[in-house]
Amino acid sequence: MEKHWHQLDSTEVLNKLDTTEEGLSTAEAQKRLQEYGKNELQGKSRGPLLRFLLQFHNPLLYILMVAAVVAFYLGEYLDMWVILGVVLATAVIGFIQEGKAESAIDSLREMLAPECTVLRDGKQTTIVSSELVPGDIVLLESGDRIPADLRLIEGKNLALDESALTGESMAVKKQYDKLDKEDLVLADRSNMAFSGTAVARGVGKGVVVATGVKTEMGKISKFVSGPQKSDPPIMRKIREFTKVIMVGIIALGAVNLFVGLRFGFEAGFVFLVSVGMIVAMVPEGLPAALVAAFSHGVTKMANCGALIRKLPAVETLGATTVICSDKTGTLTKNEMTVKEVFCGDKNYAVSGTGYSPEGEFSRNDDTFTDLDGHTDLQQILLAGLLCNNAVLEKDEEDKDKIQGDPTEGALLVAAAKADISSSAKRQDELPFESDQQYMATLHHRDDDALLIVKGAPEKIIAMCHRKLVDGNEEDFDGDSAVKEAKRMASDALRVLGFAWKRVSKEQTEISADDLQELTFLGLQGMMDPPREETMDAVRRCRDAGIRIVMITGDHESTARAIADKLHIGHDEKRAISGEEVAAMDDDQLFTAVTDYSVFARTSPEHKYRIVTQLQKNGHIVAVTGDGVNDAPALANADIGIAMGVTGTQVAKDSSDIVLTDDNFASIVSAVAEGRHTFNNIWKVILFLLPTNGGQGLAILAAILLSPFLPVFSERLPVEPIHILWVNLFMSISCAIPLTREPKEKGLLKRPPHDPAEKLVNKVFLRKVSIVSVVSASAAIIMFLLYNNGVFAEPDVPTFAQAQTVAFTTIILVQTFYLFTARWIEDSAFKHSLFSNPFLLLGAGITILFQLLIVYAEPLFGFSPLRTEPFPAHVWPYILLAASPGFFLIELEKLYIRATKSNAAH
Ligand code: ATP
Repeated sequence: MEKHWHQLDSTEVLNKLDTTEEGLSTAEAQKRLQEYGKNELQGKSRGPLLRFLLQFHNPLLYILMVAAVVAFYLGEYLDMWVILGVVLATAVIGFIQEGKAESAIDSLREMLAPECTVLRDGKQTTIVSSELVPGDIVLLESGDRIPADLRLIEGKNLALDESALTGESMAVKKQYDKLDKEDLVLADRSNMAFSGTAVARGVGKGVVVATGVKTEMGKISKFVSGPQKSDPPIMRKIREFTKVIMVGIIALGAVNLFVGLRFGFEAGFVFLVSVGMIVAMVPEGLPAALVAAFSHGVTKMANCGALIRKLPAVETLGATTVICSDKTGTLTKNEMTVKEVFCGDKNYAVSGTGYSPEGEFSRNDDTFTDLDGHTDLQQILLAGLLCNNAVLEKDEEDKDKIQGDPTEGALLVAAAKADISSSAKRQDELPFESDQQYMATLHHRDDDALLIVKGAPEKIIAMCHRKLVDGNEEDFDGDSAVKEAKRMASDALRVLGFAWKRVSKEQTEISADDLQELTFLGLQGMMDPPREETMDAVRRCRDAGIRIVMITGDHESTARAIADKLHIGHDEKRAISGEEVAAMDDDQLFTAVTDYSVFARTSPEHKYRIVTQLQKNGHIVAVTGDGVNDAPALANADIGIAMGVTGTQVAKDSSDIVLTDDNFASIVSAVAEGRHTFNNIWKVILFLLPTNGGQGLAILAAILLSPFLPVFSERLPVEPIHILWVNLFMSISCAIPLTREPKEKGLLKRPPHDPAEKLVNKVFLRKVSIVSVVSASAAIIMFLLYNNGVFAEPDVPTFAQAQTVAFTTIILVQTFYLFTARWIEDSAFKHSLFSNPFLLLGAGITILFQLLIVYAEPLFGFSPLRTEPFPAHVWPYILLAASPGFFLIELEKLYIRATKSNAAH
């Protein structure tokens, strides 16, 4: 019987997979990719046919289909065909819009495709995880998602979060030797790392043994969902609203049936009224228009550098009231340059900018690059060079560039400025973890061995009992170093402490216990300038009523100094430290999050608590994060924002948004886009719902008037066909262009919208009622005027002509309304008619189609919508009757503006 992977030792595994510790060659990997297929779990997306069929799974369409069957039995074949046509059209529109949204999400998914680090051709490279093949050597570090099933061959402090697979929430420590027992449960295969789990801490190296559906995760779940598809709150509110309407319609239908039959109306007519009611009141085109608005918003946000992983984020972003941001890289450039060195009780200044290794050292007006006679300076620079994982290299344009952590890059550059180099061999490493705040390495030199530690000054100082002064070790009490670190930090420098100790060359491994009784080498202070665009972004946030809270791992003084430069919490004197946060209970923190905007030396756990308390204060909180430990805060926040460049896969997986450029200004642009999208969605709702209201009212009025106006006891002023046409056609021709309305000026000068706000609020009720009443009364009045021969010509108006007039009136009321619905509060007269060409086009097409429909019979010899042409001289009257759809809403806006300015005074 073949042995399991965990039963083989690493050499056997490598042999069996025909690979080496150096990894596969690119050519071999290509070949294997053909053979084994992509490293993906199938069943992700639904096929187009299924997606199309699912469009019919919609209660509204069920009702319409029942209506079509009834029409068939009543012999109303035209009605039946039209209703079926509408059902089909609704499904097709839904299908197309959903397809567009899915392709927007798909292209995002591609941009967000998880990546992993592998050895190919002996070199470390980053590839898309789907291209991983058995035999690949994968390098792991904390925050990585395990991309395939791996047999681990080496590692340091490696512990995995396997809860996705085993349900066990504690991180599991890993080892690298073979295990003898054959039938171990997955949780006990401690030398394996399974796809879908994540690195909680440490680093490691593993060989891929299974990819795609062959992995343990693939075996368990045939279907793995892509980005989550929960609905935005506004969609949910609309669905609930539609449900209420449906219940209303069914009740009205029942009343109608009862009244109709009681008064002896014809069954066919009663049916017609019921169908009319149903189709009139339900906003058929609304969902498609909203999906259009959302997918447009997603695309716009992607252009700003914010990739949306979860659709609701588009709306929630617009409602954000607090942004909790990291400092390094988000507010600042993350381009570190060492500016000051403190060693041997002396201060040195370092000149130069960026990563260019050109610069000089100076002390007391003396400038030099040759460090002869400055032993302590040489040693601390050497420590920075060795205890380092970054690489300094040239890019295509021959510019100096850093591979790896910019903090470490700065140390390499500082050493390069003094021409310091070393041939020491690294034996072991305790990797940097942000909750430890230090990193340690062990090096063997020709005649000695060195253990070097660098990290947050207070951590390093606490590990030391001696200090290096002029090459000699002296007693060390730490006070002056602490003072110096504080001073450098208050100059906005990011300060790292350095220490070492000589150890025996016998020692080949290090652990945290070794980090004591060290010799203090000094401090290096580096500058990380704020990003230029941040200042403006911070100001825009303030105008938009959004508070900014800085939550950083850096020192209090550095954090406060940078915050001062950026005017974050500028009237606050100091920053709160993670230690203070830890000492506070939830009630104290509840107050502290309102009083302070800068939190320093925090760990991810503090971040989580701060976010929670801000939410308790009633805020909608967006929070940034990059590390594996940030995942809880990201998942818990209203909007979790992961860093696309420096962020770990786990952080990205837990977020709603991924920033492609890690830039704070992009968050603010995305907030503006969120508000813009939400504003347009609101316009679409306020535009489309009055159509339903108007038609519903028209039918209701006709029925109520039927005892006095017998003309309405047999037929309605508008037919269900017309209503369906208005609802569906207007939603495409006018409402979808409305989703493209340009951003209103001053959108970021208003306070954020309240997500708890009801859909049916005052503005909604007022606008929808005004336009509904205008639409219904204009249609009925025009119908009656025409039907009673008021327009003189023709002598004998037909009923169908009068209906056509009413139908046209409704279309025109909406068209008039469209031109004022573009601004919820602003007067239409203030803006150019041409600012949204799509809308003009949509309105033009609507009028053109209406002309075609009205005059279809003379043109084509038949009329698909049962219209009859009416004489041209009636048009001005229709325009006149429809125009209040524009002017009354303009008056309503005048009222809104007046009440607002009154309230302001
Ligand atoms: P932010 O959370 O705003 O990005 P940060 O980058 O300072 O701030 P961390 O990366 O958690 O936060 O770093 C916390 C502290 O750990 C730093 O202030 C520094 O003192 C220390 N530190 C950072 N990077 C390293 C490193 N590569 N090696 C050793 N210590 C480091």
